[in-house]
Amino acid sequence: MNKVIGHTNSLCPKCLRTIPATKIAEDDKVYLIKECPEHGTEKVLIWKGVEDYLDMKRYASVPVRPAKVAVKETGNCPNICGLCPDHIQNTCLVVMEITNGCNLKCPLCFASANERYRFNPSLEVIRGMYQTILDYVEHPICVQISGGEPTIRDDLPDIIRMGKEMGIDHIELNTNGVRLADDIEFLKNVKKAGVDTLYFSFDGLQGEIYKQTCGRDLLDKKLKCIENCEKVGMGITLVCVVSPNINLDRVGEIIDFAKSKVPTVKGVHFQPLAYFGRFPITPKDSDRVTIPDLLREIEEQTKGELRVDNFIPTSCANIHCDAKSMSVVMEDGSLFPLTSRALGPPKDTSTIANKTRKEIADLWRFVEDSLIIDEEDDKSNEWGDFVDRAKTNYLTVSTMAFQDAWTSETERFANCCIHTVTPDGKLIPFCLFNINSQDGKTLYRHEMWAKFSEK
Ligand code: SF4
Ligand code: SF4
Ligand code: SF4
Ligand SMILES: [Zn+2]
Repeated sequence: MNKVIGHTNSLCPKCLRTIPATKIAEDDKVYLIKECPEHGTEKVLIWKGVEDYLDMKRYASVPVRPAKVAVKETGNCPNICGLCPDHIQNTCLVVMEITNGCNLKCPLCFASANERYRFNPSLEVIRGMYQTILDYVEHPICVQISGGEPTIRDDLPDIIRMGKEMGIDHIELNTNGVRLADDIEFLKNVKKAGVDTLYFSFDGLQGEIYKQTCGRDLLDKKLKCIENCEKVGMGITLVCVVSPNINLDRVGEIIDFAKSKVPTVKGVHFQPLAYFGRFPITPKDSDRVTIPDLLREIEEQTKGELRVDNFIPTSCANIHCDAKSMSVVMEDGSLFPLTSRALGPPKDTSTIANKTRKEIADLWRFVEDSLIIDEEDDKSNEWGDFVDRAKTNYLTVSTMAFQDAWTSETERFANCCIHTVTPDGKLIPFCLFNINSQDGKTLYRHEMWAKFSEK
């Protein structure tokens, strides 16, 4: 028995044409069903747990139109990015790519690094991208410098300094950590230039995992990079690509490891593998990790220290895009979660994007009002000790389920708060920018590369 629970538009994974899609509930799972007039029907798993899927609706934010948009056309999402007047969320994080080169060639790469074009924008082009961000995004402004691998550019400290001097409030550096492991002086320069935190890819604690995700055993490099960050005082978010065929059974030990590295490690971000960029297969449902799959594994593998119930949508992105928990790491190493679905959605969803930007800018610093403070407890020393501890010894565990052509929904694109900036003055939802068809055609990435790459 199946039941229709919603309608949206999606993309055909073969030709990227925008096509209508129906959401159906079947065997306690949610599927997208869509039909391309040329390439036929697709049925794709998007969520496990129908009640849970529908329950997320209570976290939906009030639609906010960006104060300024670069495109005038309307009514043709996702083909007219961006942003256009139909977009219903502000930007809380801007991804700025400064190269498509990389010192690795991972078999799985969201950004299709080292392929087709040589994209190495000059400092003047980068200045222009910062200016676009300053023109369109409200403060505090958070930028993630990304690639490819940004550390292959020797002028990275200049790029970071330029951003800070122009008025970017928070800069995080997306990196595989290889150069930062080998060259602590470069790490120091990057920190001195103004990087606030690393967004550091870390897929697990076995060399074997890296052979599958990165093509070679990188465990020693990963551990060395963390050691160097401890030495220079650089905060890190560990970013772990999760696949059911590679490391879904290891998420508990990754959280355990992260706890042991607090306060250098501020968070673990689990990134279910999405099939865009470079990927070797046409995905089946069994190749997917949905958000509920991941959260159940976390609950089981941490033996209930973090429960599904501790993860809430940020309400900044679409409610089916992400989930986040925040915990204090106690003296005995256990986690004391501060977030719970039982507390209900945040009271004022219209300020969520502002709050999220501020939170990123504060390095996910402990948000005092996420705690329920009892007046009596407030006066006790025990409470004071706890709050002091929480300010430095905290760990966020979060996830975002990027969309690929198979799972895409225009209602999620239109509600996106994480945007890639392009040299021609546009902000495009991150996964929309990266999406490609089965045979490699993109809606936005290749067009941008073709226009701005060295010939
Ligand atoms: S994703 Fe947003 S900006 Fe892009 S076309 Fe859709 S509504 Fe417009
Ligand atoms: S996944 Fe990251 S490290 Fe690997 S090739 Fe792509 S950009 Fe480089
Ligand atoms: S980047 Fe993709 S998954 Fe993340 S908020 Fe935007 S649309 Fe959702
Ligand atoms: Zn098609």
